[in-house]
Amino acid sequence: MAEQFDAIVVGAGPSGNAAAYTLAKAGLKVLQIERGEYPGSKNVQGAILYSDALEKIIPDFREDAPLERHIIEQRMWMLDDRSFVGSHFRSEDYNQPPYNRYTIIRAQFDKWFSSKVREAGALLICETTVEQLLQDGDKVVGVRCDRLGGDVFADVVILADGVNSTLARKAGFHPDIQAKDVALAVKEILFMPEEVIQQRFNIGENEGVVIELMGSVTEGMVGTGFLYTNKDSLTIGVGCMLSDFKANPLRTTPYDLLDKLKKHPAIAPLIAGGEMKEYAAHLIPEGGFHAIPKVYGDGWMIVGDSGGFVNAAHREGSNLAMTTGRLAAETVIHAKAAGQAMTARTLSAYKAALDASFVMKDLKKYRNMPDVLHASPQFFTTYPDLVTGAMKKLFTVDGVDKLTKEKEIMGSFKAARKWTGLVGDAFKLWRAVR
Ligand code: FAD
Repeated sequence: MAEQFDAIVVGAGPSGNAAAYTLAKAGLKVLQIERGEYPGSKNVQGAILYSDALEKIIPDFREDAPLERHIIEQRMWMLDDRSFVGSHFRSEDYNQPPYNRYTIIRAQFDKWFSSKVREAGALLICETTVEQLLQDGDKVVGVRCDRLGGDVFADVVILADGVNSTLARKAGFHPDIQAKDVALAVKEILFMPEEVIQQRFNIGENEGVVIELMGSVTEGMVGTGFLYTNKDSLTIGVGCMLSDFKANPLRTTPYDLLDKLKKHPAIAPLIAGGEMKEYAAHLIPEGGFHAIPKVYGDGWMIVGDSGGFVNAAHREGSNLAMTTGRLAAETVIHAKAAGQAMTARTLSAYKAALDASFVMKDLKKYRNMPDVLHASPQFFTTYPDLVTGAMKKLFTVDGVDKLTKEKEIMGSFKAARKWTGLVGDAFKLWRAVR
């Protein structure tokens, strides 16, 4: 195939689909290449879909997208081995259309998104792996695939090939990924009748709940767990920093953690009877602001997980993926309209658009979070134990007066962290989220 395209998009996840759709919709000649058998076949996500990012690309997506439940309640639970302390936020405002977030099943959602990309006019080729970028000096001019019978050329190549982008590394656009900059996450989908889910989570038809979990379940490693309600299934998962898995003397595997989470007394009743239909493991970029590589150059741009665009504080990987895909595509569309070549200078408008958007603003705001969390395992061990212990003491009625209990609680905090430790931890938290 010696055809010349306006743009080649590598990957058909949320970032690649956002880029390919936006470009094709604007009338550009787009080739999208996906190594999976179909879009979604290789992808892993919880998954929460954020409406705002998709609305900016396909405003009427709610009409036919495969959405599971809209989220009306967010729970945050801190666990020790036998208890949890939680905060729940539920609002009727989240129960009014247009809904803000939905659970989705990625395999179905990616297929739907991809059908929109093709309707918009892009050419999608699956079961084809891009093996390297073709360069003329510093300029990327196309791609070489394991199929297609040769090289394919384009004015610009958008790398949307996910975390640990082999292509970007081979081309020297970013260094090898560090174990401290990625989390390894595992998840299962457990099927159960809709009515059972609705009763257990106190929700109506189409309403959903998100539970984010931290504490003893990650055995002191930096990480979190999650439980989401789909239409007739639950997604449960846990992820920790890869460097922590490697350093863990207990050699706990991600699956061991998930198994432990499923057996936790607060979780087991929620998932009881669920029939496991899908199990998957995947990396999540967690390096944050300081780990973002250069994301554009002569004839190329990087979007989504490939560029490490995941916000360590809120995750929202697909939100950032779709937004970066759209911004990269808009940069190309404007450049084409102005008759500009796809040089690094022209494509620097992509970085400017990222900087002006919530993507880089949020990444910058939480830039210290990865380092703070790495240096502070106590947030995942000592504090969950202290807080659940304090709650137990406070709510156990045993003839001990409340003032004595309060003193004992303060004493337990001081014994575990000393005043200096407590003040230091408060400062670290402030530094991580300011
Ligand atoms: P991907 O979705 O990884 O897509 C990359 C695509 O490129 C793949 O289809 C792959 O097959 C293809 N590809 C790769 N290399 C090549 C090649 N050489 N040639 C051709 N094709 C190639 N985010 C959220 O917003 N909400 C969540 O609830 C959430 N939960 C998550 C839970 C888990 C367990 C995990 C692992 C991640 C979660 N994320 C979540 C993050 C989210 O999944 C990612 O941020 C998002 O998928 C990134 O999209 P992407 O298009 O950049 O990359």
